Parts: sequence; C-alpha cells; structure tokens
Amino acid sequence: MKTAKEYEESLRRLNLVVYMFGKRIENIVDDPIIRPSMNSVALTYELAHIPEYEDLMTATSHITGEKINRFCHIHQSAEDLVKKTDMGRLLGAMTGSCFQRCVGMDALNALSITTFDIDAKHGTEYNKRFLTYLEYVQKNDLTCDGAMTDPKGDRSLPPHKQPDQDMYMHVVREEKDGIVVRGAKAHQTGAVNSHEVIIMPTIAMRAEDKEFAVSFALPSDAPGITYIMGRQSCDTRKMEKGKIDCGNPQFGGHEALVVFDDVFVPWERVFMYREYEFAGQLVEQFASYHRQSYACKAGVGDVLIGAAQTIAEYNGVQKASHIKDKIIEMNHLNETLYSGSVACACKGAREPSGTFLVNTLLANVCKQNVTRLPFEIARIAQDIAGGLMVTLPSEDDFNSPEVGKWLEKYFKANSSVSTTDRRKILRLIENICFGTAAVGYLTESMHGAGSPQAQRIMISRQADMIQKQFHAKRLCGITDETNGTTV
Ligand SMILES: Cc1cc2nc3c(=O)[nH]c(=O)nc-3n(C[C@H](O)[C@H](O)[C@H](O)COP(=O)(O)OP(=O)(O)OC[C@H]3O[C@@H](n4cnc5c(N)ncnc54)[C@H](O)[C@@H]3O)c2cc1C
Ligand code: SF4
Repeated sequence: MKTAKEYEESLRRLNLVVYMFGKRIENIVDDPIIRPSMNSVALTYELAHIPEYEDLMTATSHITGEKINRFCHIHQSAEDLVKKTDMGRLLGAMTGSCFQRCVGMDALNALSITTFDIDAKHGTEYNKRFLTYLEYVQKNDLTCDGAMTDPKGDRSLPPHKQPDQDMYMHVVREEKDGIVVRGAKAHQTGAVNSHEVIIMPTIAMRAEDKEFAVSFALPSDAPGITYIMGRQSCDTRKMEKGKIDCGNPQFGGHEALVVFDDVFVPWERVFMYREYEFAGQLVEQFASYHRQSYACKAGVGDVLIGAAQTIAEYNGVQKASHIKDKIIEMNHLNETLYSGSVACACKGAREPSGTFLVNTLLANVCKQNVTRLPFEIARIAQDIAGGLMVTLPSEDDFNSPEVGKWLEKYFKANSSVSTTDRRKILRLIENICFGTAAVGYLTESMHGAGSPQAQRIMISRQADMIQKQFHAKRLCGITDETNGTTV
C-alpha cells in the first residue's frame, strides 16, 4: 500500500492537462486551490498505515490475498460494507470535507457485478478484463475517479436524439486494438487527484442508444483528456496569506469537467460496449453504492455539531435549554443519516459475481434523507452560531494596527476564549454551510449520486406494495381474489 508521501509523488509524475481561471496549471499538487483536496485523498493513504485504523482502512484482496487499501477492495461480506460506512464517517470527521476516493471504489464494485452479468448473458470476457484491471489498481494502490455523469444536454431527449451527440459519452470509431471515444463527464469529484478515470453510462439505455452504452477505464493523463476545474464558493480565500478565513485550511474537495476529445481506449480496458440493456443496471448499482457512501455526510455532520457546541460555549449560551435541545436535534438527524448507511450495508447480499451489493431500497432511502437532513443540520448550526459567521471582517482587518483593536474589543464574548479561537470556529461553520465544504456537504447531498427524484423512482420501484396491501387487507378481512388472499 502507498504511503501518503508516495501518493503525492505519484501525482507529481502524472501529466494531466488541467485548466483553472483560464490558464493551464503546471504544478497541480502544490496549487493553493487544489492542494487541500489532495490532502484529503492523502489521508486515505496515511490512515491505512496507522494500526488504530487498520481494520477499517484495509482489507484482504479476494483476488491476490494481499492486504490492500479498502478503497480498492471488492466487498466480500456485509461486514465489509459496514466497515465501508464507518470508514466514510471517520474520514468525513477527520477532513470535514469530501475525501473523493469513494466514487472510484463504488465504480469498481458496480463493475465487478455488471461485467460478470454481461458475460453470463453474452459470453463476453468483460469480467476477466475487469479483474486484470482490478489487480493493477490494487497492486498500485490507485485512486480512481468514478465518472458517471454526462453533460446530458436537453434532459427531455435520449442520447441519440441530442442535437449534439457529444452530450453523452460515445464511441466515434472502432480500431483493431480498441475504441475511440468522445464526450465529457461533468462534476467529477477528485478528478485531478486521481490516477485513473472509470467511465460508466449516466442513464438506462435502449437499442437506439447502443453507441452510448460504453464503460471503460483510462489512466487520468491519457492523451486527449482535459480537466477544467469547477469553482467553489470562497475558493480564492485559499490564495490569501492568512489561514483563518478559509475555515478549513488543510482539507477540501474539488470537482472538474473532464473532456474526452477522441481518446483511444484499448480493448483490455473496455468493460461494456453496446450491451445497452446493462447500462441501467450499472447506473443503479453504482448509484446505490454511492448512496451508501454518503456516510461521509455523518462524519462532516460530526464536525458541524462539534463546531455548533463549541461556538455555543464561546458565546456563553451552552446552558440554555433551547440550545441543548437543538444540539440533540442535530445529533438525532446526523445519526439518522448514519443509520441509513449502516442499514443498507447490513442488509447487503451476495450477487452471482460474489460481490456484496448494498440493499438498494435502503440505500435509496439513505440518500433521500441525505438530500434533506444536512440542510436542517446546517440551519440549526447557523441558528446557534449567530450572524457573525457571515459578517465577520477579514483576517487582515484583525491584524490591522488601525482597526484590529476595535475588532478584538467588540468581538470578545466568553472572557476565557480568545477572539482568534472564536473566529476560527465561526469560519469553520461558514466553510461547511456556505464555503468550499458546502459543495460536498450540501449541494452534493442534494444532487450527488442522482438528484432526489432519482431515489424516489427507485423507492417506488422497490417498495413491495403488494405485500403491504396484503397485510392491510388480511388484517381487516378483505378477500382479494387477484393474489389469492383470504382471511
Ligand atoms: C458536488 C458534486 C459532486 C459530484 N460528483 C460526481 C462524481 O464524482 N461523479 C459523477 O459521475 N457525478 C458526480 N456528480 C453528478 C451528480 O450525479 C449529478 O449532479 C446528478 O446526477 C444530477 O445531474 P445534474 O447535475 O446534471 O442535474 P440535472 O439532471 O439537470 O437535474 C436538475 C433537476 O432536473 C430534474 N431532471 C433532470 N432530468 C430530468 C428528466 N429527464 N425528467 C424530469 N426531471 C429531470 C432533476 O430531477 C433535478 O430536479 C456530482 C455532483 C455534485 C453537485
Ligand atoms: S461526497 Fe462523500 S461519498 Fe462522495 S466522494 Fe466525497 S466523501 Fe466520498
């Protein structure tokens, strides 16, 4: 397994084409905007070498029997899935942000199932290719970008009806040794911190869309791939000389638009091509795994609840009964998030490929809660923090010989707490509710792994309504001829 230092060095060896603020970034690893997101991924490597975290952070490869980082593991039991949940919460709490590496893990697990199932139907050799690729990922302890979301153009049109066919990733030509693909993937978490990019379709597809039913993996610096970094609210604070106004100066996440301009993919890295009837399965399984991964939000929630309690103490309101009750409510909501992730893991089951898949109904219920509860937790945190969280002057003003003394005087609360510490905790709350970390904690909670409606569709498909009606009718003595129910 790589150490954090080795991970950082391996990123330096990549030749990624990355643009930000209209310019190509030559040194990605040390860029002040990107660096905190690299630190978050690096922690996934560092913790794997610390005995206290070994059980959560590492696993035994089912293909080589070697000890590997859990982010490269294919879940072999419900216990593995529960450990994945706890790993996500731990890292969310330790970084207070998105640590990015889960999307790749979720893509690997979904592909381990779908490639097997395609082969069973079509006699193809995708699973064999996938396992060879997996062994490479595990041996080199790689970070993979899980790339599902296409730009999608006009949402009312299927891929083949888009005026611009590049709105969905597609194959532009076949060559003897592989395929050439064109398109883009939007909102890609951790893209420029990744060694590999794993492409999956965005939606279920029909026969007319078969050129778009494609899944493959490439090195992140393959010729023809360009990354354009997404902006995050308050991102340029990271370029200022002070650190306090960043809120969380050490850790963060990032997203990028990844453009594939006629990129060659060798056959051995193609895991689906034209088997359109499996596109929906791959999407649903990847999304279900990623919906479980949102245990990370419970970890970030731990940080926000801790910050709310701290600012209550700094402001001198911690004994007020309504504040105590609000902290209880935050914990209740946060543990509800965690419960959903644990539940879908515990109820996971073995697929024909041998991989354990989460219970997909419960994973969707988990994610539906994630689209709501972090917003309520953030609302309560803002209630407790007070308005200063958003009206606090800058660090430079606090350091100013002219006005700094007024800020020190008027922003003092609890006399035993320094104004500096009060500012730090307020900026951390601001960071999670409105700043760079809000991208992961709030908007990604809403849209990541599918917008809320996507989960509602899955819940409506998977809730066993016949059984529910059976129980209701049985109890009140209704005889239902259609399902043979009699009392
Ligand atoms: C911070 C962040 C990180 C992300 N990370 C990743 C990642 O690492 N990898 C990845 O692959 N994806 C990632 N995503 C993408 C995520 O999966 C998408 O944002 C999500 O699927 C929604 O797609 P969209 O953003 O294009 O929104 P849209 O599809 O435009 O949805 C906006 C609204 O329109 C509705 N809508 C859309 N299409 C239809 C339709 N046909 N009929 C009716 N209603 C419709 C939706 O329900 C929603 O309410 C990330 C997103 C965010 C915000
Ligand atoms: S939002 Fe959470 S689950 Fe998604 S990549 Fe970031 S840390 Fe992982």
